[in-house]
Amino acid sequence: MSVCLSNGPVAGIVGGMFVRVLPDQAAGRLLDYRVPEAWVSAVAVGSRVRVPVRTRVLPATVVEVLEYSDVRGVREIAELLDEKPMIRPALLDLARWMSDYYCCPVETAVCSVLPVAVRDGKVSEKRRNTVRLAGEVTEEALAVLEKRAPRQADALRALLEAGEPLPVVRAAEAAGVAEGVFRSLEKRGLVVIESAVVARDPYAEKFVSSAGVTLNGEQEAALQAVEEAMTNPGAKPILLFGVTGSGKTEIYLRAIRRAVEDGRTALVLVPEIALTPQTVERFKSRFADMQEKIAVLHSHLSDGERHDEWHKIHDGTARIVIGARSSIFAPLENLGIIIVDEEHENSYKQDEAPRYHARDMAVLRGHREKAAVLLGSATPSLESWHNVQAEKYRLVRLDNRVDDKRMPVVRVIDLRQQARRSPEGGILSQPLREAIEGRIAKGEQTILFLNRRGFSTSMICEACGHVCQCPDCSVSLTYHRAAERLVCHICGHSSRAPKICPKCGDPGIRHSGVGTQKVEDAVKRIFPKARIARMDADSMTRKDAYRETLGAFKEGKIDILVGTQMIAKGLHFPNVTLVGIVNADLGLHLPDFRAGERTFQLLTQVAGRAGRGEMEGEVLVQTFTPFSPSIQFARHHDYEGFMEQEMEFRRQFGYPPFGRMVMVTLRGTMLERVEFSAQTLARKLKASAPAGVTVGEGVPAPLEKAKTYYRFQVSLRGPSSVQLSRLLRGTLDALPMPEDVFVAVDVDPLHLL
Ligand code: ADP
Ligand code: ZN
Repeated sequence: MSVCLSNGPVAGIVGGMFVRVLPDQAAGRLLDYRVPEAWVSAVAVGSRVRVPVRTRVLPATVVEVLEYSDVRGVREIAELLDEKPMIRPALLDLARWMSDYYCCPVETAVCSVLPVAVRDGKVSEKRRNTVRLAGEVTEEALAVLEKRAPRQADALRALLEAGEPLPVVRAAEAAGVAEGVFRSLEKRGLVVIESAVVARDPYAEKFVSSAGVTLNGEQEAALQAVEEAMTNPGAKPILLFGVTGSGKTEIYLRAIRRAVEDGRTALVLVPEIALTPQTVERFKSRFADMQEKIAVLHSHLSDGERHDEWHKIHDGTARIVIGARSSIFAPLENLGIIIVDEEHENSYKQDEAPRYHARDMAVLRGHREKAAVLLGSATPSLESWHNVQAEKYRLVRLDNRVDDKRMPVVRVIDLRQQARRSPEGGILSQPLREAIEGRIAKGEQTILFLNRRGFSTSMICEACGHVCQCPDCSVSLTYHRAAERLVCHICGHSSRAPKICPKCGDPGIRHSGVGTQKVEDAVKRIFPKARIARMDADSMTRKDAYRETLGAFKEGKIDILVGTQMIAKGLHFPNVTLVGIVNADLGLHLPDFRAGERTFQLLTQVAGRAGRGEMEGEVLVQTFTPFSPSIQFARHHDYEGFMEQEMEFRRQFGYPPFGRMVMVTLRGTMLERVEFSAQTLARKLKASAPAGVTVGEGVPAPLEKAKTYYRFQVSLRGPSSVQLSRLLRGTLDALPMPEDVFVAVDVDPLHLL
């Protein structure tokens, strides 16, 4: 932390109690203040305060308590925001570590360990808006409402079903309507909305404490390993490697109970996308005997709810926390275990400063607070697998599915031939069409999956499947249309975009890209009678659309569901017997060395959507590059085979997990200025880079322009992240950037776009 006192020059020493604080917006500056008599016993390291800075009063965090201050004219803190320090020293240390490692301002790191809703102490309302029936509701009244305002009828029905007052948010969730609908009902005099303290969770009643199942042998052994780790403060983190349905969650549930029974606490991280009501229900029902001890943190909470949940943890009521990424900073004390489910998920990486990885923070926090760390996945990340091989993690496996169900059959379809046959062949090949037809005839369902996350700018030959790659970096080159060039954004290599395929000479080489919309249109043309729905970020902008579509699909009202990553994970539809992957190449040839790993994980996940019920599932993968390893290994459900060859590739090129990487992205509205800044930065970095550190050129990012900003990147590679961070920080501190050029630093980046 850079210490820079700005309150003035050294003066006479003054007695009393003083604190050194870090204002939330202060560019790392620490300021001293006197603590008024009344708060002396309450203020401590981690207290949140408001302090006068020049003419303003700013929120700040106490980072040090001092016995004296030599600052002339030291002022008093204006306000103490909570009786109990809001940031525990352990978390404050974690924040400092993040600032250092992830190369971000310390105040940004400190702020990130507190949710906005509690940070400035403004949301202190512990009461919530609750809705109850105003009186008896007759069938006739409901029928009338049904005709005039069907949404209001839905809302009213949900409330009737609940049979008790509900917080408005929950009621809206249950009814699948916007919260405003209840206001309309209130106007009609049918319901009453009032502010009330909700004594217990409205879900609670529905749950019976499921005693749990009898663990099989593999699970017993796994649980034993976890329990060992919980009693041994120096134990290594455990990587629980088990296919979907092998009973990992069951292990989590037992370990959590164990921790709580031992008087400790448990923290469970799940990817945001998996934080569905089903997941939450499963945990809550298992711990039905201690409902009040569970806190759930996810992005759909209102500020008030988040505030309440957080305080439940902070005051020690909650002993179990389930949440997404940022829950890694939940203020639990006496942690027994930290669980990271689906540890390979990219959503654990924060995409704004501090760009931390929650899994890595879990390992660090667990180590510092002497808690066991359990990372679970069916397709562990290369980083974690590498840590197993380096004996930093302990590997525990669940090799069999609990129900002994077989993995679905995966067929690979070569689009190079199909695309020639008909204009739609490149979207829906003949075999895929036939398979869909068969399902429709049998009343079974199909999922068509299109990988569209990130974005694809590679050039691929439709005739031979050749993809233009950087000769030095083995990642796909990105096609920059304006300049008609192919650029490697890792090393800066650049060449003219070819007009014909460099390998086979076919003019069919093009920049790849098919949208879900286009797929949906094609499917509609081919199957005019089928019931088709599309699910992607564009079609799901309405709050309830997601639930409605999934609901309809579950009820069998949809034959074919076309969608993106949104439908890849965690969903369970017994009647889905066919999954079609429209174009496996879309993710494969992103200009990213992790493209293969992602594709493998995604194919494995998506394939897992087929055959969840009694019927066997089939997966059809369409691709222009049928022999790419990600596709072949996924096809054979061969995780370890994939790992072996992917590790070798990473080793050869010094990519993570073998080497470390930092990506600096500069953006601004003035192209020349951004470009110049990127090139200057690259030059300065090169000049001071120690041996073993490689600095790339300042080149346009694969995503050249976003939200009116031009984007340029400079990459750093070397054996240690800390070394790279320090080099970068030193260089950036000494290099004035134009005011309109913004710099983002990503240490251990996961997305290179
Ligand atoms: P995973 O988390 O690995 O996908 P789960 O723990 O969700 O697996 O288990 C899949 C299903 O099998 C769940 O419905 C779970 O209740 C059930 N299950 C888990 N362990 C057992 C067991 N030992 N015996 C019977 N059913 C089990
Ligand atoms: Zn290159």
